[in-house]
Amino acid sequence: MAAKALLTALIFLPLLACQKPQAVASAPAQSAQPAWVLAHPEYHAHKDCIFCKIVAGVAPSKKVYEDDRVVAFWDIAPRAPIHILVIPKQHIRSLDELEQLPVATRAALLDACFKVAKEFHLTERGFRVIANTGADANQTVPHLHFHVVGGERLLEDPITIPGKASAPR
Ligand code: 5GP
Ligand code: ZN
Repeated sequence: MAAKALLTALIFLPLLACQKPQAVASAPAQSAQPAWVLAHPEYHAHKDCIFCKIVAGVAPSKKVYEDDRVVAFWDIAPRAPIHILVIPKQHIRSLDELEQLPVATRAALLDACFKVAKEFHLTERGFRVIANTGADANQTVPHLHFHVVGGERLLEDPITIPGKASAPR
């Protein structure tokens, strides 16, 4: 009798193990998108771009401001006591592609630079907004960004490494 039960188990257990597992909870819809993406069908990201990853929340950042068009976050290597980067959520490589941004996003970028300066009390003593554009300006991250820097008396050029500003091509 025990041998028969063992034989039955040996036959049926592998069959049970091959059955597909039952779903325990319904999976979230694959197409779920943040509201700001739905509000801006023109939005697109570049798959290899670190700033697009920050926008999507898959790379870390210390965000200080966000709306549905722009994000502002601390520069990873600040060159002044306050050094914030303001970027559009939509990927363009730099100011040389500005015409690809909706006019409202262009306005939102300038507005965010002002909001950041105000938030960090830079409007009282002064600050600088810099957009390095292309190779001659030593742009290193090809996603449009504005450096908002201040909090101390700024040197002639706080972004470019001293001595490199006038290096030959
Ligand atoms: P650019 O040289 O292109 O004008 O400035 C790029 C800036 O992006 C640099 O100041 C650099 O420190 C900053 N940066 C580069 N990678 C990251 C990052 O992953 N996170 C943050 N928060 N800043 C970054
Ligand atoms: Zn990007």
